[in-house]
Amino acid sequence: MIDDPKKEVVLMRGIGVSPGIVIGRAHVMARGGATESAHFCHLDQAGVDVEVQRFKDALKMSREQLNRVKKMLTKEGKGKEHIAIIDAHLMILKDKMLIDDTIGLIKNQRMNTEWALKTVIKGVRELFDKMEDRYFRERSADIEHIVDRILVNLSGERHVSVADVDSPSVVVARDLSPADTAQMVKGRVLAFITDMGGKTSHTAIMARSLEIPAVVGLETITHSVSTGDTVVVDGMTGAVIVNPSLSVIDVYEKRRQRYERYGKTLHHYKTLPAETSDGRRINLLGNMEILDEIPSLLDHGAEGIGLYRSEFLYMNRMDLPTEEEHMAAYKYVARKMSPRPVVIRTLDIGGDKFLSPGDLSDEINPAMGLRAIRLCLKRPEIFRVQLRGILRASAYGKIKVMFPMISGVEELRRAKMMLDEAKEELRRENKLFDPDIKVGIMIEVPSAALIADILAAEADFFSIGTNDLLQYSLAIDRVNEHVAYLYEPFHPAVLRIIKGVADAAARQGIDVSVCGEMAGEPDHALIFVGMGFTQLSMSALSLLRVKKLVRSISYTDAQEIAAEVVKFSTAREIENYVGSRLREFYKEEFYA
Ligand code: PEP
Ligand code: MG
Repeated sequence: MIDDPKKEVVLMRGIGVSPGIVIGRAHVMARGGATESAHFCHLDQAGVDVEVQRFKDALKMSREQLNRVKKMLTKEGKGKEHIAIIDAHLMILKDKMLIDDTIGLIKNQRMNTEWALKTVIKGVRELFDKMEDRYFRERSADIEHIVDRILVNLSGERHVSVADVDSPSVVVARDLSPADTAQMVKGRVLAFITDMGGKTSHTAIMARSLEIPAVVGLETITHSVSTGDTVVVDGMTGAVIVNPSLSVIDVYEKRRQRYERYGKTLHHYKTLPAETSDGRRINLLGNMEILDEIPSLLDHGAEGIGLYRSEFLYMNRMDLPTEEEHMAAYKYVARKMSPRPVVIRTLDIGGDKFLSPGDLSDEINPAMGLRAIRLCLKRPEIFRVQLRGILRASAYGKIKVMFPMISGVEELRRAKMMLDEAKEELRRENKLFDPDIKVGIMIEVPSAALIADILAAEADFFSIGTNDLLQYSLAIDRVNEHVAYLYEPFHPAVLRIIKGVADAAARQGIDVSVCGEMAGEPDHALIFVGMGFTQLSMSALSLLRVKKLVRSISYTDAQEIAAEVVKFSTAREIENYVGSRLREFYKEEFYA
């Protein structure tokens, strides 16, 4: 009830991970944390067998539930990624360590199943917490979701899932498992808000690709809202208001309508060329992680794929993708995007721990460790499968291959040599591929940026990964909130490095684009256009905003502004200057 004095108004701010404004009724899912409420119980000898059987029954029930979800997803024609997530959860249910260790504790320590599971998951959590890579830390969530499911089944309670949401609602949860998110039906789930989560979690990625507004990282939202409460969700600012007053609802309703109108006006840019007022054409490409994003990218006018983060093919599973799987995924993208180009970035993940959970890396600093191309060169048997898959798909569309994290010429040469070997094998096997496939590199390590002229002689194109370039050039860990204040895209050093790469590429006559998050922000895109970039790659939801920017400026003005920014000493000064110039010709309505 609105304006009910008995209901407390709660205002919270989390991380807006998927834009949009929703005012709706809350549907609170299980508060989760079943592991925390598990109690210890010492068994007598007779109880041990009963307990082992209880555990096996709960495993069986969990398997049956997941298989039902899988069937439903298949029937609803959901993408392969969604089904792959369920498969990954089914694999975890079969995991020997999880099963054997739990049964071992029940038998040897005479623990009840709940406590045994809690002990096992504690060990797993500690293992994952030590990992500094955010991707891996977030993968431990998959295992926790499965354990929660088993515990709910042990308690005899019904498992509450998103599939139970039968009327349009705002889903409220401690954390949503990727399996839950995969079941979300746009329309039934108006938005979702969670206690936990980060920008790169599967949940956030799926929200953006499904275009469901979402705010994560609210910490205690599940304790501040009950099913049936009215909630306002602002996916841009991360604001969530529980039991808002009528006047607050009125304000947000107006903002919602304005956002909707804004979306429609932006849509008008879909078919217009991204061209400055004085005729400079800029190519706006899409970044993608999962195949389901393609319709949205096309709908937002993507002129190709500038970055396919192929590592998502390796995630949520316990085995490695086969050559056929690689080929099928890349061929699908190439065909859907045809005749537009598709840049496939080879596996960019840190440490071989991910590929084999039993084979943990003890790297102190994985961000600077065996990741991306370094890992691929160290594990040629893995790299080779992907290269063959990419090459075979290149027979079906305009595919380019790109190597991540190149730090010097030798790495590029070795990667190219492996590509040549894969070509040679395919030739011998009479398999089709594009022999002239273009080979590019990400410029995201400062050493590569500084020798861009040398690398340009051996690469067909560059793509600047500003996310990592900032991390390494400013010496700030992308995932460490204590140094987040130093994450300054307008840092003069960052702009100088980027400009240097653009100039080196121009001198050598090779293509260069930007594909980090900066490319999708109008104020940064303005500087890139001014520096001479003609290709920018970004997520679907940024494409039309940036196209509007491009069409609002003249190349001459952008050049003048880009020349001016190098004269400032601090990021703040540059930000203020660019902001004030931007406002002369571009109105930003919704984003901070
Ligand atoms: C980047 O580093 O800017 C980039 C685009 O790659 P990722 O964010 O996947 O590391
Ligand atoms: Mg990167």
